[in-house]
Amino acid sequence: MKVLLHICCAPCACYPLELLLSRGYQVVGLWYNPNIHPCTEFVKRMESVRKLSSVYGIKVIYFDTYEPEKWFRAVAFREEKPVRCQICYSMRLEMAAAVAKKGKFDAFTSTLFYSKFQSRELMVPLAENASEKFGIPFLNIDFREGWKEGIELSKEHGLYRQQYCGCLYSEKERYCPKGKPKSDWVVGQILQEAERVKEHFG
Ligand code: SF4
Repeated sequence: MKVLLHICCAPCACYPLELLLSRGYQVVGLWYNPNIHPCTEFVKRMESVRKLSSVYGIKVIYFDTYEPEKWFRAVAFREEKPVRCQICYSMRLEMAAAVAKKGKFDAFTSTLFYSKFQSRELMVPLAENASEKFGIPFLNIDFREGWKEGIELSKEHGLYRQQYCGCLYSEKERYCPKGKPKSDWVVGQILQEAERVKEHFG
């Protein structure tokens, strides 16, 4: 069976890949994540997926242009959770279904179904809608059962492990939940900057 696996990030893809490949599926990855901001983070995560693809020997289709505008327009005035995430999931799952249909795959799924930080309850109906809309089966597997194994694998492979979900709003929720930077984070940034200055000037 030929499966298109939408990849949200490299660490989340380890366990799903192990599982799908062990079942003998032919897997091709899809990098389509207009929700990852800013550009430096987008590139870091995409490069980590390139590393992952060579570790597992899989092909990946890349939407490698950084164009967050479409994403920001889609969530405008709906920036609160869970509506924002629903829109964000839908964009990516629909793209996965569309690409899978066009590429004559047998089914599609996403590494989003591995993450304990994402809402499976919200995503399953969206994936089913995408499946119906594009006429391509959704491979519904709850990859969360391999949560610990996936973390170990991502460390073993030396993959970049991000600190926030992806969008600027999630970055704000991580570091400035009330609009003010968390004090421990500020101190960390100052110390890092001091280290950089020390390295630079000796
Ligand atoms: S928190 Fe994550 S899932 Fe939710 S909108 Fe942001 S990037 Fe998308």
